[in-house]
Amino acid sequence: MLFEEIRKYDHEQVVFCSSEEANLKAIIGIHDTTLGPALGGTRMWMYASETDALIDVLRLSRGMTYKAAVAGLNLGGGKAVIIGDPHKDKTELMYRAFGRFVDGLAGRYITAEDVGTSVQDMEYVRMETKYVTGIDKALGGSGDPSPFTAYGVYVGMKAAMKELTGSDSLAGKKVAVQGAGNVAKYVCDHLAKDGAKIFVTDIYEDKAKSIIADTKAEYVHPDKIYDVDADVFCPCALGAIINDDTINRMKFKIIAGGANNQLADENKHGKILMDKGIIYAPDYAINAGGLINVANELEGYHSERAMKQAGQIYDTIKTILTISKSEKIPSHVASNKLAEARINSIGKIRQVYSGKSEFSGRLGEISK
Ligand code: NAD
Repeated sequence: MLFEEIRKYDHEQVVFCSSEEANLKAIIGIHDTTLGPALGGTRMWMYASETDALIDVLRLSRGMTYKAAVAGLNLGGGKAVIIGDPHKDKTELMYRAFGRFVDGLAGRYITAEDVGTSVQDMEYVRMETKYVTGIDKALGGSGDPSPFTAYGVYVGMKAAMKELTGSDSLAGKKVAVQGAGNVAKYVCDHLAKDGAKIFVTDIYEDKAKSIIADTKAEYVHPDKIYDVDADVFCPCALGAIINDDTINRMKFKIIAGGANNQLADENKHGKILMDKGIIYAPDYAINAGGLINVANELEGYHSERAMKQAGQIYDTIKTILTISKSEKIPSHVASNKLAEARINSIGKIRQVYSGKSEFSGRLGEISK
């Protein structure tokens, strides 16, 4: 049953980490390392069962393979989950024990923060391993990824507009933004500068107020955001918002936003969007700016370089939409195809023996 599940998602390796002393139950999923080390955050969650935790880590780590590949990064897909209540069960010992397990993988997996874990937790992990990224600016890390995610969303939206109208200008276009959090705030700044008309919502109206003050956006009740007569819908709050209920209400021509897992049912709703002629910028391709930013930490961090790379999301979305149109397939399928093509082609050139890394350690020892 265990291997069946692992093979279903096509994983290379799954590591179960246990320490009674540290109250640690963690699973690390390494999906595919063709392009490079598997990178992905550590999620801490009160899973209803261990099987749920396993399925979550398998699903999330596979998603990271596609995200890194389509973003043009030399990284594979990985993710980790820690089973426990992030509000009650966290200790220094737990995260340091987890760091030991990450270290034991010798760089095959690089971790970062995710839902339920914080920069502070990652500092404990970093005490035991260097294979952690997304750390605090004060410690030489890249800090908040939101401006990079937002910039990627903004240029991705422009690429979608170019596909729709032949021009990528957002001046005078109406954009409905769901959520007034970190990503939305920066997206709205870009939109306002370009002269777009913004409609914004948040379940906490106060959070929307600062955006409204800075950008002259109009507030919309959270339940009404799907009905706004806007050109673009920019979901930046939560997942599964493209579903049976909302999809029939939408008059948008483009969906381009930062939220993860926007399609409630990938195959069903991706196809409906295509049939309705709504241009959908696949979530994991358009919101890769944050991943691009932490990936830059691994090579010595420069924010300008990270921002420039996030800007390449424009071309990525353009390519995906071109494939989608010419092959008459939903854009998320086109995006998966693009990712798989890159993994397969780079995998092929890696079959060529370079003489550099494969045996250097052993040959070095032999020559001593
Ligand atoms: P955030 O928590 O700062 O903002 C989310 C906002 O959405 C909050 O203000 C929250 O009150 C609001 N919200 C929640 N439910 C809502 C609802 N039903 N209607 C309206 N508003 C609602 O989060 P963020 O960092 O801005 O991330 C936004 C989304 O983008 C998330 O889905 C996140 O997973 C995804 N994402 C973020 C990054 C990043 O760099 N921060 C990177 C990739 C993906």
